Amino acid sequence: MRRKLRMGMVGGGPGAFIGEVHRRASRLDGRIDLMAGAFDIDPEKSLEMGTSLCVAPDRTYREYKEMIEKELQREDPVDFITIVTPNNWHFPIAKECLEAGFNVMCEKPMTMTLAEAKELKSLVDKTGKVFGLMHNYTGYPMVKLAKDMVKLGDLGEILKIVVQYPQEWLARPIEKEGQQQASWRTDPKQSGVAGCMGDIGTHAANLAEYISGLSITEICADLTTFIDGRLLDDDGNCLLRFNNGAKGLLQASQVSIGTKNDLAIWVYGTDKSVEWHQERPNQLLVKGLGTPVEIWDRAYDYVTEKSAAAARCTRIPTGHPEAFFEAFANNYLNFSDTIFAALEGETPNELALDFPGVDAGVRGMAFIETVVESAASEKKWTSFKV
Ligand code: NAD
Repeated sequence: MRRKLRMGMVGGGPGAFIGEVHRRASRLDGRIDLMAGAFDIDPEKSLEMGTSLCVAPDRTYREYKEMIEKELQREDPVDFITIVTPNNWHFPIAKECLEAGFNVMCEKPMTMTLAEAKELKSLVDKTGKVFGLMHNYTGYPMVKLAKDMVKLGDLGEILKIVVQYPQEWLARPIEKEGQQQASWRTDPKQSGVAGCMGDIGTHAANLAEYISGLSITEICADLTTFIDGRLLDDDGNCLLRFNNGAKGLLQASQVSIGTKNDLAIWVYGTDKSVEWHQERPNQLLVKGLGTPVEIWDRAYDYVTEKSAAAARCTRIPTGHPEAFFEAFANNYLNFSDTIFAALEGETPNELALDFPGVDAGVRGMAFIETVVESAASEKKWTSFKV
């Protein structure tokens, strides 16, 4: 009989954002229990968090190294460790977890540099451990439907992709007031060489490649820091070229007043186009030349019959919205099925392997470094660095 998977967590302390989303999403299917954690950079706050989450005192750790060491000594160690710290910690923690033999679920961007990302990929290949990267927007059923429609040829040949991720929350210098999430995101030592482009531009690039199945080959980028004194970009516009000759536009911004999390994508083929908005995630618009716009709704048979990946990630009937938590849960569903297969010595089925992993992480870091290089250069096009 299968037992539940045991999860450990690094990060997600009091007042943190995404750690709590992971905790809720990972338990949605009842197959994962949070058993251990080093939840905060401040050891006292880690203990406080463990108490509030009812994690056993002897498995609430003061720091992640202690968790790795002590969990290894147990008969029932955690099966995987989720990393939800600021970016600068992802690489050292992921590396130590993999070396110790743990599977890893890591937040994006995967590392601080492309070189680190490549090193992590070698380590994942060498250890054979399961590695997930939380590009959560790939977890939406209607995104999976769009991907399958492209794969089935419903759109024809892909000519153009427009993708955007505008937000407003950094339109004022709130990092100067000590706002937790803004403070580290605007600090190159904790965030990396890019600000907005690393934080959300990577989601947009990943979504374009995930749905289209194409790879970005060249970028022409223009990055801006609109807020005086801020050290990293808070807005960026990119022209993209893809490996099949398709062209693209990608814009991301954290100073676009009036928009909250308006990640949206338009994929144009020779026969049809699709359009998806994460603020209306249960619908996919499907459009033909000179025909009425079709609004496809999640969970109908015409969706689940076309896309097994969407069907697998659909929990409730149409009209009852599924959204952010479910998308994270869908990545955990596939990630955990892949771990189950490994534990049972079986090959995971193809649908279970449908979650972003270390390769997406390497491409994310290549995207960041290419965009920054392009923006600093007078050259029109910069080759994708990977
Ligand atoms: P946050 O500042 O809200 O939380 C970070 C937490 O990590 C804090 O509790 C902090 O104390 C803890 N921490 C820092 N260093 C640590 C260490 N060495 N050991 C243990 N704990 C440590 O940040 P956030 O907004 O939750 O972002 C965290 C990560 O998640 C970032 O990499 C970010 O890019 C990513 N993120 C992803 C999404 C998404 O949609 N996938 C959304 C938000 C954030």
